[in-house]
Amino acid sequence: MICDNITVSKDGHLLFAGQDTVELAEKYGTPVYLMDEDKIREKCRAYKAAFSKYFDERAIPLYASKANSFKRLYEIMAEEGMGIDVVSSGEIYTAVKAGFDLSKAYFHSNNKTDSDIAFGMDHGVGYFVADNVEEVKAVEKEAARRGIRQKMLLRLSPGIDPHTFEAVATGRVDSKFGTAIETGQAEEIVEFTLEQPHIILKGFHCHVGSQIFDEDVFSRAADIMLEFIAFCKARFGYMADELDLGGGFGVRYVESDPEPDIDMMVGKLAAAVRSACARLDIEVPEIHMEPGRSIVADAGMVLYTAGTVKKIPGYKNYVSIDGGMPDSPRYALYGSSYTCYAANKMNEPCTLKASIVGRCCESGDIIQEDVMLPKSVGRYDTIAVCTTGAYHYAMASRYNKLPIPATVMLRGGDESYVAVKGETLEDFVRNDV
Ligand SMILES: *Cc1c(COP(=O)(O)O)cnc(C)c1O
Repeated sequence: MICDNITVSKDGHLLFAGQDTVELAEKYGTPVYLMDEDKIREKCRAYKAAFSKYFDERAIPLYASKANSFKRLYEIMAEEGMGIDVVSSGEIYTAVKAGFDLSKAYFHSNNKTDSDIAFGMDHGVGYFVADNVEEVKAVEKEAARRGIRQKMLLRLSPGIDPHTFEAVATGRVDSKFGTAIETGQAEEIVEFTLEQPHIILKGFHCHVGSQIFDEDVFSRAADIMLEFIAFCKARFGYMADELDLGGGFGVRYVESDPEPDIDMMVGKLAAAVRSACARLDIEVPEIHMEPGRSIVADAGMVLYTAGTVKKIPGYKNYVSIDGGMPDSPRYALYGSSYTCYAANKMNEPCTLKASIVGRCCESGDIIQEDVMLPKSVGRYDTIAVCTTGAYHYAMASRYNKLPIPATVMLRGGDESYVAVKGETLEDFVRNDV
């Protein structure tokens, strides 16, 4: 199994977090998002333990809430002592409603509106991460109006392409995100920000990509960022307190993906940071990272009920489910791989190759192509899609007027509870006037 929270019972039912998925499908209906609360906590603790082991107690991981955002999740993050990163007034509002202490929040995005900035300050967001000079100006203006000094990080682009695993000088300089070091714009934005009377520049941020397994990518990004920090110290007499190296650590979607090791990844990164700081003769800044996917992805599973099975002899087989791209858009968006099962038939051999497709009027409404399923798969079977805790609920839409499913939390091997109610038909006309 791709994660240790997935097992099979003697009677051939798929178990998730120790609970029978066929019974859960019956109890809560389908489609349903399941989230393994114990796994989420385990991941938070793994990051926290690694950070305090290899860095120091100032270095806390920040959960990137864009991966999945609802009140209960922010309560768990607060209980686990995590910081968070937020990207919109919507995420801030959800965290506020959960009672999360926003002084531990970092506000990202490449285009914060004036109302986002005001909303963030109303709620005491600790840090604004400015993507570009426009944002620095807009934050300065609002902070001045309020007579406060706002803490800030600057998002820089170190020029790394994580997918070639090469430090390509120009590779990511053309990104929508961040201010490029290579073009000299990073130096300019630092100079400009240091001159602003209502901004306290705390340091720098970068985020090089997602689903990265090679910790070298983070080490190289750290190297480039630390060189820039040393450059700023020499050029402006400014020493950054904080360096936030972003998120992007990979998770295991299919058997061929490696088994991620948080402790090892943080350990190697810390070694790289220390040696770069020694070489550059600077103090080690407070290090942050912002894991999103790797905190929640394998804590998630989506359950569906199969309907139509269409066999086109000599061509292709389709198994249709009662959800699709509105609840799980990652295949449609990126062709992402997933592991899928017929959850009530785990003891049967898988001899039928089929595409699992949704119920939308759209050929691209695919969950996964070429999945091996039992030959008997058909109507009323429970179909499980694994590793769906990140970027599923968070990216859900109501396309074809399909309601967004409930999120059900599992814990302690036998407890389950609804954290987000499923939408109803009434929700579709709530805002219609
Ligand atoms: C998306 C994102 C993250 C989280 O990425 P994951 O791949 O989910 O870990 C962290 N920081 C920033 C700035 C991001 O845009």
